[in-house]
Amino acid sequence: MTLNTHPALPEFEYIRPATLAEASEFLSHNADTARPFLGGTDVFVRMRDGFILPKFLVDVKNLDGTNELRFDPQAGLTIGAAVNMNRVVASPDVRAHYPLLAEACRSVASYQLRTRATIVGNICNASPAGDTIGACLVFGGVLHIHGVNGLRQESLAAFFKGPGKTTLKPGDIVTAIHFPIPPKGCVGKYLKLGRNQLSDLAIVGVTALGCKDAICSSGYRFRLALASVAPVPLVPTEAETYLANHTVTAEAIQEAACLAAEACSPIDDVRGGARYRKQMVRNLSAKALTEVWKNLG
Ligand SMILES: Cc1cc2nc3c(=O)[nH]c(=O)nc-3n(C[C@H](O)[C@H](O)[C@H](O)COP(=O)(O)OP(=O)(O)OC[C@H]3O[C@@H](n4cnc5c(N)ncnc54)[C@H](O)[C@@H]3O)c2cc1C
Repeated sequence: MTLNTHPALPEFEYIRPATLAEASEFLSHNADTARPFLGGTDVFVRMRDGFILPKFLVDVKNLDGTNELRFDPQAGLTIGAAVNMNRVVASPDVRAHYPLLAEACRSVASYQLRTRATIVGNICNASPAGDTIGACLVFGGVLHIHGVNGLRQESLAAFFKGPGKTTLKPGDIVTAIHFPIPPKGCVGKYLKLGRNQLSDLAIVGVTALGCKDAICSSGYRFRLALASVAPVPLVPTEAETYLANHTVTAEAIQEAACLAAEACSPIDDVRGGARYRKQMVRNLSAKALTEVWKNLG
């Protein structure tokens, strides 16, 4: 038997709606056979591998505002669904106010792939390994969604329901992600452990963001998000709370890193074992938090 290692893309019909309303209508009327797409870097690979076989692919790029990348000093940053990762990396506003987002985008595969891949596609794919999701979580991302009943907003923190599963319903199209103004003087870090430097998904990914915060008894607030160690991108809240309530020292950071590892429920797969993943969460969380802590001064 010969194994076909390069199967052809199955046939599909390309749909290019003129408006978001038209796109939502089409997607909801063809819920079992139609799928929205942006860069297609997940969709086409999954189609070629036979995991999904949509009859219609609905191109949601170029629809009302999805190409915008906008910063407002009062309101924050809005990244349209169709904005590719290289545009995010190159944006002076992102670099000045949300450098962690640019760092997370740069960790995704290669420059070539990032000319197609989008942050919103990374989120809607809902892989626990999505590299940009952690930065979106720690910056408090809010999704703008257009459905058959019009526009609504949803917190990213409540969006993920399982691997490949989200709160989206038939006809829903994420049009943008919005971030509030980040805490003053905040510092972030993304550490990705992969099998190689290019084009591999994370075995473990740790995102950390820290800032001064007089409300916390430690005087500091840290946010953490973990990739590839649970069915959904994970926020280890016990670790965050620990650092909010204990004087930040090397020992406190180690304790928080242990709490982050305890919060995980990783699986064994081709990239790494569950036990190894837990240990790497502890090590990388300690490393990321220490680096953020040092840079906070
Ligand atoms: C070679 C290669 C290397 C990769 N390396 C990495 C990596 O290192 N890190 C990483 O995180 N990812 C990686 N990926 C995965 C992929 O590139 C990312 O997940 C990317 O961000 C997806 O964005 P996209 O615009 O291409 O999404 P698409 O493929 O267009 O869509 C992704 C999913 O979201 C849905 N969707 C798309 N748009 C919308 C919308 N507006 N509303 C609702 N649902 C929508 C689609 O139906 C699909 O299920 C890699 C992929 C390849 C092929």
